[in-house]
Amino acid sequence: MRLTRGGPVRTALLVAWVLLACSVRADSPPFWVNDYQSVAAHLIDEATRSQFAWNRLAALTDTVGHRLSGSPQLDRAIAWAVTEMKRDGLENVHTEKVMVPKWVRGAESAEIVTPSHHSIAMLGLGGSVGTPKEGIEAPVVIVHGFEELEAHASELNGRIVLLNVAFTNYPETSRYRRAGASRAARHGAVAVLVRSIGPDGLRLPHTGALDYAAGVGRIPAAAVSSEDADLIERMTARREKVVVRLKMDARTESDVESANVIGELRGRELPEEIVVVSGHLDSWDVGAGATDDGGGCVVAMDALRVMKTLGLRPRRTVRVVLWTNEENGGRGGVAYRDLHRAELGRHVAMIESDNGVFRPLGFGVAGSDAARRTVATIASLLAPIGASEVVSGGDGADIAPSVREAHILALSLEVDGTKYFTIHHTEADTIDKIDPVEMSKCAGAMAVMAYVLADAPKTVVDAIR
Ligand SMILES: [Zn+2]
Repeated sequence: MRLTRGGPVRTALLVAWVLLACSVRADSPPFWVNDYQSVAAHLIDEATRSQFAWNRLAALTDTVGHRLSGSPQLDRAIAWAVTEMKRDGLENVHTEKVMVPKWVRGAESAEIVTPSHHSIAMLGLGGSVGTPKEGIEAPVVIVHGFEELEAHASELNGRIVLLNVAFTNYPETSRYRRAGASRAARHGAVAVLVRSIGPDGLRLPHTGALDYAAGVGRIPAAAVSSEDADLIERMTARREKVVVRLKMDARTESDVESANVIGELRGRELPEEIVVVSGHLDSWDVGAGATDDGGGCVVAMDALRVMKTLGLRPRRTVRVVLWTNEENGGRGGVAYRDLHRAELGRHVAMIESDNGVFRPLGFGVAGSDAARRTVATIASLLAPIGASEVVSGGDGADIAPSVREAHILALSLEVDGTKYFTIHHTEADTIDKIDPVEMSKCAGAMAVMAYVLADAPKTVVDAIR
């Protein structure tokens, strides 16, 4: 909406209309955003008119597969991303070296040997040490939380501890996966099994990282499916002695070289000011890393692709970053902060998509009230695809080091999370769980948010800093 043409009468009418509109709807979006209605519609159209993003993700997951830090697959994915960004015509496409930990799972198994024989659906936890070659065979003690673990401290020596805590939400239950091994090792336990962090029902073990506490002996740790945890629970309730044999070849090797992958659409007026869109390219070594987080990478790439396809070049630079090593180290995000420290102050916003690419709902934000209002204003352009919600969030693990250091506006793509934790860190994280239309809408949401933040008038951007 521009009020520059027309005679005095028309101008007066317009002014009256503007005043009326403002007084009637004090909460209606500011007028600057109206200039972006048409470009937003084009970006959404371009992103959603084909299955481009889904097909690109299928190419990644089918030809490369899962991509744990230090694996040859992650190296291949990095090379693939560089090629794809160049194919999209992005500028300044390059990799930035990051040293990452290399954990290798090796062969692994667990079985109940007493009172009857059952194989257990399990996955070693990322970072775990292995067992001796012959495995560890020991009676199981079940606890249902850390308080109970401490209360039974005297019974844990020489035992395998099963932490059997039903999944509620991720922050609440993932702490047993992260801290369980060291908590049990303090009292002489020889290994830990953790009920998988995810909803029950498909006998799927969910892997994920553990943290060994300093100064405590390291014992092997594995996730078991909820069904197998329940089986051991029932046997124990019958006062049967349960003995489990655990075998894990897991080991940590020396750090190896990896990289963040970067591409840009340089800004037409203020190229030194930057909006980052991102996802993490590494994954766990099971499934295909489609939802976590191949999809996030592809929709971040797609934001720039659709701008480029439409011949759009925003005022500021839009930079796509595909992070390495989110899952078991977070080294990619730290390396970016360190390498880009001098320009962090010129980052207008950083967006990370790491919640899956299911039906988009809107954006999570961590920033000032003014910033949140601006994001909500831009998100109003996403009403046609139902992605106008703005909630607290912006907590992407990879953007966090930069965001914290330079107080940058942080955004997360928020989506329908119904399926996310069912497949999270499992063999079931494959592309068939992702709907091409929903994914294309995620790409559209990323494109509009990134474009408008990168193109917004100086007064708007100044107000969110
Ligand atoms: Zn992730």
